[in-house]
Amino acid sequence: MPIYVYQPSGDSSCDFCSAGFEKLEKLTEPRLSTCPHCAAPCKQVITAPNLHAGMSSLKPKNLAEKGFTQYRKVSKGVYEKSAGKGPQYISDDGKD
Ligand SMILES: [Zn+2]
Repeated sequence: MPIYVYQPSGDSSCDFCSAGFEKLEKLTEPRLSTCPHCAAPCKQVITAPNLHAGMSSLKPKNLAEKGFTQYRKVSKGVYEKSAGKGPQYISDDGKD
């Protein structure tokens, strides 16, 4: 499953997204356009395949130390944090 890296694209950001964050997504899932924490506009950062591999090999602790937040999918549209700062769970379900 590819890892997508997002960074805030607007002026606003929160502790969760200000340094960028990673999200594991299936190819068929829609890309995020906003931070799941503060809803600030975010853009997907294109990263090289070899960078993906390197980042994937990092332990969650190392990811957190580098300022990344990593989530893993636990059920449909629900992600559990495995490293970094941010809410323990996020959901793609936009309708509260
Ligand atoms: Zn945010």
